[in-house]
Amino acid sequence: LQPLLLVENLRKHFPIKGGIFNRRVASVKAVDDVSFEVLKGETLGVVGESGCGKSTLARLLMNLIDRDEGALVFDGDQVGDQGGISLRQLRRNMQMVFQDSSSSLNPRLPIMDSVAYGPQVHGTPSKVAQQTARELLEKVGLSPDLFASRYPHELSGGQKQRVNIARALALDPRLLILDEAVSALDKSVEAQVLNLLRYLKTHLSLTYLFISHDLHVVQYISDRVLVMYLGEIVEIGPVDDIYSTPKHPYTQALLASQLSMDPAERVTEAPLSGDPPNPVDPPSGCRFHTRCPFAETVCSQNTPSLGKRNDPQRHSVACHMHEPGSGHSRTQSPPVY
Ligand code: SF4
Ligand code: MG
Repeated sequence: LQPLLLVENLRKHFPIKGGIFNRRVASVKAVDDVSFEVLKGETLGVVGESGCGKSTLARLLMNLIDRDEGALVFDGDQVGDQGGISLRQLRRNMQMVFQDSSSSLNPRLPIMDSVAYGPQVHGTPSKVAQQTARELLEKVGLSPDLFASRYPHELSGGQKQRVNIARALALDPRLLILDEAVSALDKSVEAQVLNLLRYLKTHLSLTYLFISHDLHVVQYISDRVLVMYLGEIVEIGPVDDIYSTPKHPYTQALLASQLSMDPAERVTEAPLSGDPPNPVDPPSGCRFHTRCPFAETVCSQNTPSLGKRNDPQRHSVACHMHEPGSGHSRTQSPPVY
């Protein structure tokens, strides 16, 4: 599998207005030196607690906010550089679906016009754009005869999210970034929209970056999973490997807290107790060391890395426990919760 999107050393710190920390201008380390690839045709899930940088990452990839450092390569072309792919071209190739289905639709436009809007802005004649919009409504399961002239307030949450998906597809993109796209929906509607997304992915040869705090949903839809903690990637790998044998203590804690069938067995306190660290002044070394049950001296001194990743499909973890010679006493498998 070839990378569709290559992300290299991406960084974004948000300065805090008037904020000083340790006599320096304070900033939130939202995304810090993040590198990964989204492979053609896959769904890459992105998980982590709220505030870990998932949404900032999505906005950086979409170029909705400027990156401080790093490079984006879309299908072999540098993004935003001279001679590379322009932001306008990128918009056609990459689209985003957000959580809040209402606020992203214009309340004064019939939904067909909302879907047709993108292509029209990009120069498609209005008749053609309207026809495209009808076909897309059909594709997302909303009969155009019934729905084309309805307004957003006449639709349910699930229907509005279908319209948003249709809208995102209107420019015929290759990559969809879905940021908590099903999180606001009821469970039964959520399942329908997930199945729609799977269907569309196969039939339109799409690639997804699927961001969610819900590990069940991510397991259902993803081929690979990327785990973020305080602006960094701590683990990445095939979904089955991550869910059956998580290597990073943070991933283990996340899975233990969400996936146990028996609520009494869900570890909601133990591994993730303690104050969540401040992203303005993240812990030294491994950022998880203040909450990690296996932390040793080396963990606060040296920053663990994912290592060289020649094979993007490889299961990689940034933890000293898994690096022989790191100084961590337990360099074999840690216990699984
Ligand atoms: Fe825990 Fe150390 Fe691994 Fe960080 S590097 S997750 S503190 S064992
Ligand atoms: Mg978010």
